[in-house]
Amino acid sequence: MFLDILFPPKCPYCSRVMRYDMTECLSCRAGYPLDPRIEITPTGDICISPFTYEGVAADAVKEYKFRGKVFNAKSFSAAIVSAIRKTYYKDMDLDLITCVPMTKLRRRKRGYNQAEIIARNVAKLMDKPYEEVLVRTVDSDFQHYLGREERIRHNQKYYSCISPEMVKGKKILLLDDIMTSGATLSSCSTVLKENGAERVFCAVIAIVRK
Ligand SMILES: [Zn+2]
Repeated sequence: MFLDILFPPKCPYCSRVMRYDMTECLSCRAGYPLDPRIEITPTGDICISPFTYEGVAADAVKEYKFRGKVFNAKSFSAAIVSAIRKTYYKDMDLDLITCVPMTKLRRRKRGYNQAEIIARNVAKLMDKPYEEVLVRTVDSDFQHYLGREERIRHNQKYYSCISPEMVKGKKILLLDDIMTSGATLSSCSTVLKENGAERVFCAVIAIVRK
């Protein structure tokens, strides 16, 4: 609270100063997309997103992801939940919420996993448990050179499930920051299903326009 007076929160989308209890300014909230985007990932899961990755939404995501503007997470999480509630999938009766993990090394370097902060916030807003059920064990960059199918297969080796007993028979919402090809979400979803997950839904802050 005290810090809010010294550094009043600014709207993640337009940088106007706003009240500390708001997640975005009123004019940006009024401009929230009426129709959330729903895409199908390569493994056939639903991915819901409030924004297309462009314009002010893309700028806000970049500030969050690369410039440490963690405050934006509050707004993104609220936008994701409102997007989910506008769809048919609002009644998806989730058992738990989790996120695409980072390697320990990468997380230490960055100081936080941007997908985890979103997932924890979304879990709170939806009144569902957040659980860390996946880990990423290997970092790699050369996946950019692989085709989509190859990338999914390849990526699967990077992720594993640390608590299959928590996943078995469950409906899981998997969070990430951005969906580009959907390969990462698909790799994680495959690991969850291999460990017995009944169904996996995905949600992200923004989907890259194809
Ligand atoms: Zn604004």
